[in-house]
Amino acid sequence: MSIKNFPRYPLAFLPTPIEELKTLTKKLNGPRLLMKRDDQTGLAFGGNKTRKLEYLLADAIKKECDTLVTMGSIQSNHCRQTAAAARKAGLCTELLLRGKKPEISNGNLLLDQLLKAVITWTDKPVTHATLEAFVEEIKKKGAKPYLVPYGGSSPLGALGYVNAMIELDEQLKQMNEKIDYIVCASSSGGTQAGMVVGKALTGFTGEIHGIGVSKTNEPNSTLEKEFTKIANETAALIELNQTFTEADFFINKDYFGEGYAIMGEKEKEAIHLLAKHESVFLDPVYTGRAFAGLIDLIRREKVDKDKTILFWHTGGTPALFAYADQLLYPTTQFEF
Ligand SMILES: *Cc1c(COP(=O)(O)O)cnc(C)c1O
Repeated sequence: MSIKNFPRYPLAFLPTPIEELKTLTKKLNGPRLLMKRDDQTGLAFGGNKTRKLEYLLADAIKKECDTLVTMGSIQSNHCRQTAAAARKAGLCTELLLRGKKPEISNGNLLLDQLLKAVITWTDKPVTHATLEAFVEEIKKKGAKPYLVPYGGSSPLGALGYVNAMIELDEQLKQMNEKIDYIVCASSSGGTQAGMVVGKALTGFTGEIHGIGVSKTNEPNSTLEKEFTKIANETAALIELNQTFTEADFFINKDYFGEGYAIMGEKEKEAIHLLAKHESVFLDPVYTGRAFAGLIDLIRREKVDKDKTILFWHTGGTPALFAYADQLLYPTTQFEF
């Protein structure tokens, strides 16, 4: 089935705008910077998961499920967006969150609660078996659960970013604009895999440069291997006759920092810079880390000045509030 005919539940405000970051470009004295504002997809503070959920929710409704089930960390954007998508369609949400219930709910967790998601806490790593057991428990309550995969990164979820590349292609044509690099934060891979499939579909000529924010949890696996698998399965869904290999994925692994969701000085600087010079808020876990990587590449002159870079803002801003105490007191005095 072609992507145009694929069942999709509309959730996002599309197309998301493309904005030029003129002040920051000048400050960095680097290549021209544009930003695709997927932090503005509209649904409950937005983000990249909205696009994936349009396809996942349509599938849940087709299968007559009444409860979306998913898992993540305390400040998971994916969980907040899943809870919001469910509410929009009159469904319920059950979340399995890693960690301990904090005394005060903030950021994404506060929003999960306002969206009336049912939350179960676990201090163990979430494996496939834990999840299956969790789904069985929900069935026992008489609900019809639909398991939304980790980060929404199934082939179906990745269709959201195939579609996003079609959207970008149309925008660039209208603007008479050419992009040399797309830079985005990459984690569970649905976003970058969808973009790579979308690149093949549209003939987009730029390079897609993912900045890894965390290592893979799977033993004997690599991010490239996992992303390639998603891309090939996504291409099969839309009958795109093309095979992707690990060479189709550029994933920068220089910026993992102290680990997933640990905000370091680099991430803080990126958040401060974008707020100060562009009035754009990045998030502490994904876009802050990816943009910090981009700033570093520009400062070390790894990107030619005559290139045009599009940073794809994937959202996550509600998590800023959960990091408030660390954000206002950086230990380093930033350059700008
Ligand atoms: C989930 C997420 C990402 C990573 O997307 P993947 O498809 O998991 O690689 C990037 N940015 C934000 C804000 C996210 O919430």
